[in-house]
Amino acid sequence: RAAAAVTEFVTTKSDKIFAEAQELMPGGVSSPVRAFKSVGGGPVVFDHVKDAYAYDVDGNKYIDYVGTWGPAICGHANDEVNDALKLALENGTSFGAPCELENVLAQKVIDAVPSVEMVRFCNSGTEACMGALRLMRAYTGRSKIIKFEGCYHGHADPFLVQAGSGVATLGLPDSPGVPDGATSGTLCAPYNDAAAVAKLFAEHKDEIAGVILEPVVGNSGFIIPDKEFLEELRKLTTENGAVLCFDEVMTGFRIAYGGAQQYHGITPDMTTMGKVIGGGLPVGAYGGKKEIMQMVAPAGPMYQAGTLSGNPLAMTAGIKTLDILSREGSYEHLEKITSRLINGILEIAKENGHAVCGGSISGMFGFFFCEGPVKNFQDATASDTDKFARWHRGMLEQGVYLAPSQYEAGFTGLTHTEEDIDATLAAAKIVMSNL
Ligand code: PLP
Repeated sequence: RAAAAVTEFVTTKSDKIFAEAQELMPGGVSSPVRAFKSVGGGPVVFDHVKDAYAYDVDGNKYIDYVGTWGPAICGHANDEVNDALKLALENGTSFGAPCELENVLAQKVIDAVPSVEMVRFCNSGTEACMGALRLMRAYTGRSKIIKFEGCYHGHADPFLVQAGSGVATLGLPDSPGVPDGATSGTLCAPYNDAAAVAKLFAEHKDEIAGVILEPVVGNSGFIIPDKEFLEELRKLTTENGAVLCFDEVMTGFRIAYGGAQQYHGITPDMTTMGKVIGGGLPVGAYGGKKEIMQMVAPAGPMYQAGTLSGNPLAMTAGIKTLDILSREGSYEHLEKITSRLINGILEIAKENGHAVCGGSISGMFGFFFCEGPVKNFQDATASDTDKFARWHRGMLEQGVYLAPSQYEAGFTGLTHTEEDIDATLAAAKIVMSNL
């Protein structure tokens, strides 16, 4: 095996724990995709994680390209983050009162992300998107929003329409329990299709509060937007008095230090964040123009709150993570290893006669088992998901932990080394030749 700590791939303990878990929690998990349903085979149960590696309860070691779904960009259990957390712990885990660390993280986010002049912290990406949605509606006095097929903005009711990610993975068009009233204001367009957005604006004149999108998609697999598409969205929202919101929960501080908006050179009115800015602890945030953010309570009338929001532990992990990322060479490293990884995988796949397309930006990557190009969710569904399932299992057995769905992006971190990429490509050679 390419990367494993043991020579034989045994999952006896994982299987036992997961069997027990299924009696205790729905599907045995706290979040659906972790159950490996779309790729088959049971999930492995992690024991601990460190740097670029995950170790399961049976003693298998994996090179990890999930990175707890994005936050572990400085490597798992980073020593500097952990040391800072140990110190912070001594002062208490939650204040429920103003804490100076909030100012420090807020200032870092404001300095880095072009659209953010003020920020509100919360506890997850879902909460950030819920807050942003309410704020778009409060600010404009309008109720409708436009989202894109296959883009995921957390599990709040109004966003569970064509939501990609776990919802797409399980083949659920929507979710039962979401009342029609919650989604009746949600309009959907295909990604990368500005004409469809223009049509919606024309059909719903003066009704649209805002447009929200993943500025590089990770929840339909990895899809890059056309520059003209983003430029057109910027133009259409401005012309129609609507708010443009980039959901940078996944791309924030990953695609670039200033997020996808810095990478694309297009500044939205609002931005949602999560994952990386919490450095592995539960954090979300939404921010934007001061004029819009001043609507949020208690500065303004739009209510949103949180018992644990801005707690000192999460702020500390976020601050230290951004400190590490801001050091010279961070994004160059991510770009270098990730492009080598994805180009290597694509080349090996083609050598073995598989139709593939894919790519990467900085520490985010993905590929589809289809000819491509994949420009939107519809294109993504043309890929061979059965082949992906065999690829996933094969790589797992070789000691490489990949996202267990064709409709998820992959992530690298600062602790992935050239040797890890060598080992991963060696594993890919074995697996691709047996698909
Ligand atoms: N928005 C995007 C783009 C995401 O990728 C995610 C989660 O993967 C969310 C929102 C929801 O974030 P959370 O899982 O922290 O609630």
